[in-house]
Amino acid sequence: MSNFKLLKNICKNINLFYIDDKSEYSNTLFKSIKSHFNACSLNNYEFNILDKFNNNHDNLIICNISNNGLLNNHLIEQLKSISNRILIILALPVKSDLSHYDKLKQNNEIFSFDKSNLNAASNVISSSIKYINKTNAVYDLENKVSHFMKILELYDETIIASIMDKDGKIKYATSAFSRISGYSKEELISKKHNIFMHAIYDKKSFRAISKAILRGKVWKGELKNKKKNGEEYWVYATISPEYDNSNMLIGYTSVRQDITEKKHIETISITDALTNLYNRRHFDIMFKSEIKNSCRHRYTLNFILLDIDFFKQYNDTYGHQAGDEALIKVAACIKDTFKRPDDYTFRVGGEEFAILFNVELKKDAIFLANKLRINIQSLGIKHKNSEVAKNLTISAGLIQIKQNPKNETILLYKKVDEALYIAKNEGRNKIHFKK
Ligand code: GH3
Ligand code: MG
Ligand code: MG
Repeated sequence: MSNFKLLKNICKNINLFYIDDKSEYSNTLFKSIKSHFNACSLNNYEFNILDKFNNNHDNLIICNISNNGLLNNHLIEQLKSISNRILIILALPVKSDLSHYDKLKQNNEIFSFDKSNLNAASNVISSSIKYINKTNAVYDLENKVSHFMKILELYDETIIASIMDKDGKIKYATSAFSRISGYSKEELISKKHNIFMHAIYDKKSFRAISKAILRGKVWKGELKNKKKNGEEYWVYATISPEYDNSNMLIGYTSVRQDITEKKHIETISITDALTNLYNRRHFDIMFKSEIKNSCRHRYTLNFILLDIDFFKQYNDTYGHQAGDEALIKVAACIKDTFKRPDDYTFRVGGEEFAILFNVELKKDAIFLANKLRINIQSLGIKHKNSEVAKNLTISAGLIQIKQNPKNETILLYKKVDEALYIAKNEGRNKIHFKK
């Protein structure tokens, strides 16, 4: 391929900034090369010539210098200040003294040629443009890296993420994770993830997560976590196993979304404002889902429906405000007696409460129901007009729900209500178990 053809191929994407120190543009060099470039701007050399240079557009400067003296120190300084990605080619008179341009060489890759020799010109231009293409590729890579670094910075600031080894110890944590957990990044390193888990989780809950991950599955779900200062926060976590090239498990990654606010609103909507137990609406949902769960995981669901004895009289005797306070104490006692992670406690009516819990044996269920009855009586809430005791008491119906997906909640509720009715009829301050 002739030099000019080569030049034509290479210059297709190059925008040339051509400086000529002549006032008339009769330059043979410019005329012979300009058609090969994507774009050319021909600039008459003047004092602030490089102000016209467009850093975003132009990628090659050719200075056609007929007199060394004209490429004065000012232009050299200006050329030096141009990004060193820009290629500068000097077209020089024959036998020029190149030491004159040493200063320029400190900052820029400079190619020069004897401008009386057009063939030499095309050689220099094509080899120098190959060079600039190479440096442009490096520059693009640098750009990509810096872009990537910015994304990483953003990721670090906003995404709650961590990388763990296969023992679950943290190897890397983002700033966002450090901020939400209250631990510094250094403190997080080597910590096991379970230190963030809220007390509501037991070993069983952990096992469900690790079982999924060990099977190579991604685990997704909501987790209640605790900060260094004990405060709680909620996250939606995606925990994925990581493998090396030979498919050996090397650890886990966890990406978490802060859903504390959402959870807060959700909690309000399912909580009874007076007692802080779950409300009736949530009972209806949980009852159905617990029936399904008990069938899937093969456990026996137990249902207590309890009602405060002679509560109308209590209100009449001590006032509605005292009645409210008694309800709060009874609710706290219910929660305190049924405090396992899979115990669910509800206020389902004015002075009626429901408990869903999980034990296999009837005698254990009756024992727990009676324990609750005694605990409430032992609160010592005076009720002088009660006909059964000196203190506030409850009566409760209890049923065990056999594993059957066809179980209907309405019928089950009716059954436990009948049991409660029997307990009341049998004299109150009693538990009645109905088969
Ligand atoms: P029994 O032993 O048969 O259950 O008698 P009881 O008086 O408890 O039952 P009854 O259903 O006649 O009365 C329930 C009372 O509970 C009436 C109502 O004023 C009171 N109550 C319901 N909700 C609240 C509440 O939120 N605060 C207060 N202070 N009282 C309530
Ligand atoms: Mg009632
Ligand atoms: Mg009552």
